[in-house]
Amino acid sequence: MSKSNPLTLVSCPTCQKKTPWSNENIDRPFCSSQCKLIDLGEWASESYAIPQQTSEEDEVFSEELVVNPNKSFL
Ligand SMILES: [Zn+2]
Repeated sequence: MSKSNPLTLVSCPTCQKKTPWSNENIDRPFCSSQCKLIDLGEWASESYAIPQQTSEEDEVFSEELVVNPNKSFL
């Protein structure tokens, strides 16, 4: 029983740097607390505003699923 699982790496959303996904990495998926703060700051400054077109498409899809909940399975 050797623990040879490779370390899972994720890309930091802020700087795209590969960073290990582990319990020790408290800032995951960010590579550092600095990148974490940068990302949070961008959310707060509305630069991540969701395009209206995307949200309209999502509404159409979810509406179809609600109308025909069984047809997609049977
Ligand atoms: Zn980073």
